[in-house]
Amino acid sequence: MAIGVLFGDLVKALFTKPATQNYPFTKTIAPERLRGKLVYDPEKCVGCMLCMKDCPSNAIELLTVDKINKKFVMRYHPDRCVFCAQCVQLCRFNCLNMSNSLWEMASTTKEAFEVYYGREEDIAFLLERAAQPGINEPPCE
Ligand code: SF4
Ligand code: SF4
Repeated sequence: MAIGVLFGDLVKALFTKPATQNYPFTKTIAPERLRGKLVYDPEKCVGCMLCMKDCPSNAIELLTVDKINKKFVMRYHPDRCVFCAQCVQLCRFNCLNMSNSLWEMASTTKEAFEVYYGREEDIAFLLERAAQPGINEPPCE
């Protein structure tokens, strides 16, 4: 490339608005159908476990608190999820969805990649139980 052309491009670039976005200070609204973080509604879940069995990347675990009263907690691993939405499509009870607003998932701590969904008291029960000596994991079946 001739030096003159290069110089011309440089001067032009100095007075042109950047094509890039000043993220994270400026954000555009995500498309409606964007597949962001998985979200779960424990009130509708019947505990059939199909989502967990069908997930190709083992990103979902369904933990049972009380099978008879349909109390479940979902442990979701966003770092394993490939955002295929297979679980969303197969759940017949519409418990699952992929948020188009929760898509900023970068984190410097591993805790952000282990997400518990469910009723507050059920999550607390499972975490307390898991913290007891001799019990490493909440029940998962
Ligand atoms: S497929 Fe739906 S109803 Fe069945 S365990 Fe998963 S979230 Fe619950
Ligand atoms: S979107 Fe795909 S990879 Fe992610 S949890 Fe659902 S089935 Fe698994």
